[in-house]
Amino acid sequence: MAEGGLERGARPVEAGRLRALPPYLFEELARLRDEKAAAGVQVADLSIGDPDLGAPPAAVEALRKYAGDKRLHRYTPAWAVEEFKRAAAAYMRGRYGVDLDPGVEITPVIGTKEGIANLSLALVDPGALALVPDPGYPVYARSVGFAGGRVRFMSLDQSRDFLPDLDAFAGERPRLMFLNYPNNPTSAVAGRRFYARAVEFGLETGACIVSDAAYNEITFDGYASPSILQVEGAMEVAVEFHSFSKTYGVPGWRVGFAAGRRDAICALKTIKSNIDSGVPGMILLAARDMLEGAAGHIAESLGEYAARRALLRAALDRAGIAWHESPATLYLWARVPGGMKSMDFARLLLDRAGVMVAPGVGFGAGGEGYFRLSITCPRDDIAAAGQRLEEVSTAWKT
Ligand SMILES: *Cc1c(COP(=O)(O)O)cnc(C)c1O
Repeated sequence: MAEGGLERGARPVEAGRLRALPPYLFEELARLRDEKAAAGVQVADLSIGDPDLGAPPAAVEALRKYAGDKRLHRYTPAWAVEEFKRAAAAYMRGRYGVDLDPGVEITPVIGTKEGIANLSLALVDPGALALVPDPGYPVYARSVGFAGGRVRFMSLDQSRDFLPDLDAFAGERPRLMFLNYPNNPTSAVAGRRFYARAVEFGLETGACIVSDAAYNEITFDGYASPSILQVEGAMEVAVEFHSFSKTYGVPGWRVGFAAGRRDAICALKTIKSNIDSGVPGMILLAARDMLEGAAGHIAESLGEYAARRALLRAALDRAGIAWHESPATLYLWARVPGGMKSMDFARLLLDRAGVMVAPGVGFGAGGEGYFRLSITCPRDDIAAAGQRLEEVSTAWKT
C-alpha cells in the first residue's frame, strides 16, 4: 500500500463516503472459517444465502442459444428489453392480478441490489430522510448514505411480527421507505393489511415506498406472498423489486426488474442510463423465457428447500434453540441461547462446532440476540451441521 511513495492514510485514496462505512462484521468470521478449514476442519457454512441449486436446465439451453446470436453481442438491443418487460408485465398480471404498462412502469435491473442502490441515488437528495428496516439488508442504508441522505432505522421487533410501527414515523417527511417481505434476515412475511397501511403512509407523508420482493416466490406450506402493488393506490407511491436470483437460483446471472410508480421508474432509468448499459441481452431473453416457462423448476427447488428447512428446524429443536416460525425465505432466524452476544455465539459455533452462521448484529443493532441460518447448502451439510450443533449444545443447555 505504501508503494509508489505515498503513505497509506496520509492521503487516503478513497472518498469520505467509503471511509464512513461501518466495519464489515462478517470479515472476522470469514477469517476464522478459513483458519479452521486450513487446520482440516470441515466447516459447514450456513451464513450466506447463495442459491446452490442452479438454473432451470431449459434456461441454460436458451442462454447457449442466445449466446450464438450476434445481435445480442452488441449493446443490449431495445427489442430485447421490450420483450423482457412484456414478459415481466404478464407475470405481474398472472401472479398478482396487477396491470402494468411495460413502457413506463417496468424497467430491468442488473440484479435488485444494483436497482436498489441506484434508486437511492435517483430519489434521495443530500440531507433527505430515508426509513430503513433494522435489522435489514445492508444495501438500503449504504445506498442512502452514498446519496448523502439521512437514515432513520425502523426497528423490526418480534413482538410486532417483525413489521415496522409506521405510526411512529407519521410526523416525518421521508423521501423513501424500504420494506422487504418476505424478510431477510428475519424470514417474516407481510400481509395485504400491512401493505395497505404502508401505501396509506406513502400517500400521507409523500414517501416513495420501495418494496424489495426478492423472496416473494420462496414460500412454503401453501403460502403465497402478496405484492404491495395489489393495494389500491399503490401505483401512486410504491416501487417493487423482483429478483431472479432466489426465485430461479441464478444469483450470478444478475437480473431482476423494478415495477410500479412511473415517476420513480423514470428517475431510476435516468440514473441507470448514466451509469450502466443494462442487463446483457442474452441474459434478458433467457430471463424472459424463465418467466414464461420455469414454474416447474421453482416448485422442484422449493421441494428441496422445504426438506432442508425441516432438517434444520429439527436440529435446532434438539439443540434447544428457538427459531421464528415463517412460511418463507431461505433462512431461519433463531434466538441466540444463554444470553450471549450474537457475535460471540457465532464465534463459539465456528470454533467448537465448525458451523458458520450469520450473527444478527451484522444486519444492524436490531439483530442483536439473534442469528441467521441459511438453507442454500446440501442436505448432508445441513444434517452434519445439525449434529454438531446438538453436540455443543451442552454449552448453553442448563
Ligand atoms: C438476495 C437478496 C436480493 C437479491 O439481490 P440480487 O441483486 O437480485 O441478486 C435482494 N434483496 C434482498 C433482501 C436479498 O436478500
